[in-house]
Amino acid sequence: TADIIDGKAFAATVRARVAARVAELGDNEMVPGLAVILVGDDPASQVYVRNKRKQTIEAGMRSEEVRLGADTSESELLQHIARLNADPTIHGILVQLPLPPQIDTLRVLDAVDPAKDVDGFHVTNVGRLATGQAAMVPCTPLGCLMLLKDRLGSLAGREAVVVGRSNIVGKPMAQLLLRENCTVTVAHSRTRDLAEVCRRAEILVAAVGQPRLVKGDWIRPGATVIDVGINRIEEDGKSRLVGDVDFASAIEVAGAITPVPGGVGPMTIACLLANTLTAYCRLHDVPELAGAA
Ligand code: NAD
Repeated sequence: TADIIDGKAFAATVRARVAARVAELGDNEMVPGLAVILVGDDPASQVYVRNKRKQTIEAGMRSEEVRLGADTSESELLQHIARLNADPTIHGILVQLPLPPQIDTLRVLDAVDPAKDVDGFHVTNVGRLATGQAAMVPCTPLGCLMLLKDRLGSLAGREAVVVGRSNIVGKPMAQLLLRENCTVTVAHSRTRDLAEVCRRAEILVAAVGQPRLVKGDWIRPGATVIDVGINRIEEDGKSRLVGDVDFASAIEVAGAITPVPGGVGPMTIACLLANTLTAYCRLHDVPELAGAA
């Protein structure tokens, strides 16, 4: 049976490294500052924002929270972003998604100063990643990559299959794996014979949003499986979180697999803190934490 990749423990070590580096910056009068903007009252978003704030403070950084009503206009939101772009005590700006329907998400994401774009969603950072330049890299795929490199060392030449092509996870994941010299296949909802495509993968990343879509017999024996999915389902009268991979059958075939919860999820916030530190270091021209981005 597969080894279970402990993302929770690995995330704790990433956070500790970030906190240690922040403490070293100590004699600078300014610590890294992260601003999180939350528009509306989506319950899942509230939980994420609370956790981000808590872990930001625990890492010794400054946390600023901007909470806006669900009826906030796009121009009002853009004004907050402009203010934070100009604020020298803020090094990272994150707009929590999803945004309410009256707001154009892409326009808002592209209003964030690319140097402070710790989510890596600005078109400039997307382009930089795609062209091999220093970029801010989206947190969830960055966390997946850290787990893969920790497990496998060099990824060069390996067959990687990414299921899902969202701007947030699938596409940047594929770019990162390409950067590591994998042979990358991106599968999605229109892929023919998904099971057969998945069976090629030495590295399989599932970022689909479909509970337990990927079955054990879709997995190449010994493969490393990264399950990004977070799906809440009702089962046996209980509410529980499951991934995009059918864990019970996958664990019989894979070489290693991330659990849900406790796999990719904790890595995402750890990478947000690492990205905030990276943004600070680039803005202040001080050495970056090795291996962060
Ligand atoms: P999304 O809905 O934006 O994209 C899903 C992708 O999966 C699409 O590209 C679509 O083509 C593909 N897809 C959908 N159904 C498919 C099918 N039946 N077969 C093949 N491909 C299919 O989702 P997202 O934002 O990329 O998130 C994916 C999952 O990851 C969700 O469960 C989400 O909750 C989770 N997620 C987790 C984290 C984390 O921190 N761990 C972060 C972001 C997203």
